[in-house]
Amino acid sequence: MKVISTKKKLCLSCMEEHEVKRVEVQEENIFKGVRVKYPARYEYCDRTEEYLTYEDSIDTNDIAFKDAYRKEVGLLTSQEIIEIRNIYDVSQKDFSKILGWGSSTITRYENHQVQDGVHDDVLRKVASDPKWFMELLTRSKSELTEKAYYKYLNKAKEHYRRNRDKYLKESIEATYTKYEGKSHLTGNVDLDIDKTVEVINYLALNVPNLHKVKLMKMLWYSDNLHYKREGKAITGFVYNALPLGAVPEGYETLVLLEGVEYDVVQYDEYIGYKFKAPLDFKVEKLLDTEIQVIDEVIERFKNYTTTQIVNKMHEEEAYRNTPKYQPISYEYAKKLSI
Ligand SMILES: [Zn+2]
Repeated sequence: MKVISTKKKLCLSCMEEHEVKRVEVQEENIFKGVRVKYPARYEYCDRTEEYLTYEDSIDTNDIAFKDAYRKEVGLLTSQEIIEIRNIYDVSQKDFSKILGWGSSTITRYENHQVQDGVHDDVLRKVASDPKWFMELLTRSKSELTEKAYYKYLNKAKEHYRRNRDKYLKESIEATYTKYEGKSHLTGNVDLDIDKTVEVINYLALNVPNLHKVKLMKMLWYSDNLHYKREGKAITGFVYNALPLGAVPEGYETLVLLEGVEYDVVQYDEYIGYKFKAPLDFKVEKLLDTEIQVIDEVIERFKNYTTTQIVNKMHEEEAYRNTPKYQPISYEYAKKLSI
């Protein structure tokens, strides 16, 4: 018996006023042939040694019992169902409508009624697949108020972007596991994706017409100049020696992240990506030494054309001494031309 709290009150067991304990005890019960243990709460009278139910304890104890069963057989608990509904900030009634279930189905599932297996699968899919939720939402649009529909749609889009970002970040991190312990390639720091996005935006904010190739070179110069001075890079990027100079590994995935923005610009012969900082961009992670280095790199190269900066890179010891398509060591930073 675990004591949760005590309170002086009229005890309904001995009918006298005294400190009455509110306690939690382990109970056992059988549901659909499955025996489960669960925590149940009561008030307890020391004098009569009697357990009493109070206010909504019958309800909450029953939900605890059903949740223990749900866990035992691998179903979502009532709280997990509530959390899924909260992802989309949708009401119980509307959630039932969107799923095409009876109007009080969700309310019941969040309480005493144990959901059936098929509905449980549907709820899990809704949690992990916001695109599918959007399809269901569109299908039930006519049954929802316009305001509610757009609110849920926006929540679903937000959830979709978060999922996508999470997946993209994980895939970059997975690529980088092969560089663990190779600090000469990562510049003595672990790849910090959020910080990297910040560097890109800082450059985009201060360099007019910042295109892809030039951005990559400016990242390399920033990392290497900082390494030269402070013994460590800024981003943790590993750069490979490609024909147009240093290219950060994972770069193609990184630019798909939320928070990296660019305009697609049509030129005579090709399409270019012109990077721009988000309107609400502000420096949060960059250190003073890092900003100082990036500012110098900006000052030095902001007016360079892509060809000029590529040529500059081609003359660097680091590039000339690294076999094509191989990672460039930060050891060469001490011979950096800037
Ligand atoms: Zn009592």
